[in-house]
Amino acid sequence: MAIDLVLRRDWHARDPRGDYTQLDSTKGVKVHYTGGKVDPGIVREHKGCVELVQSIQNFHMDGNGWIDIGYSFIACPHEKVFEGRGLHHLPAANGAGLNAGHYAVLGLVGNAGLVQPPDGVLSGILDAIQYCRDRGNAGREIKGHRDGFQTDCPGDPLYAWIKKGAPRPNGGTPHPPPTAPPFPGRLLKYPPVMTGEDVQTWQRQMHKRGWNIAVDGAYGPDSRDVCRRFQRNQGIPDDGVVGPQTWRLAWEAPLP
Ligand SMILES: [Zn+2]
Ligand SMILES: [Zn+2]
Repeated sequence: MAIDLVLRRDWHARDPRGDYTQLDSTKGVKVHYTGGKVDPGIVREHKGCVELVQSIQNFHMDGNGWIDIGYSFIACPHEKVFEGRGLHHLPAANGAGLNAGHYAVLGLVGNAGLVQPPDGVLSGILDAIQYCRDRGNAGREIKGHRDGFQTDCPGDPLYAWIKKGAPRPNGGTPHPPPTAPPFPGRLLKYPPVMTGEDVQTWQRQMHKRGWNIAVDGAYGPDSRDVCRRFQRNQGIPDDGVVGPQTWRLAWEAPLP
């Protein structure tokens, strides 16, 4: 299951104000909604999701006085999963005494405006849950915030879906395989250092794949080195040049 992660740097998250409490494992995940009005316009434009997540972080840090956004992950209508506090960090959204038991995953729906979770939100929540299980030592439980806490969260539609066993929408079709964006039309190589949006796009994708690479839009010796090692992993000539095949594989090659 390919999770489409929006890393903290990609949504311009503020740095946490203090150290996270480490979390070795959890019993599972608790699902949340925003509890407020969500502008249905976010379904048309992902930019609205980014702004909403930023505003939630601001509210949690400046209003609640928390060190960071209270959720572990946030799923948006575009089947993307925002990195909140992330794996192995104690969330804050489940309520006092209940945070060590479960990761907290927010679906971007509310009690007004966007109320019915679009399929992309449900798929995103499931991708986040799978990610917590695979990488974050989460157990099998999927619960709602209202389980064991006095709240209407995550709202009736999401809670009914959880009670049905949180089925994947579209009759259980898994996340479609990722497809690479169009090749930018020029070879990315070094020397000399090449800069541009295309370089940054490739670097961001390599970073998402887990490579230690700066997402600075400048293709220098470090990028070339990552490219070569990636090409060797993929069994293709390691010329250190991002051509059409190396570009495509950055998105479409299965993760190890
Ligand atoms: Zn909640
Ligand atoms: Zn979105």
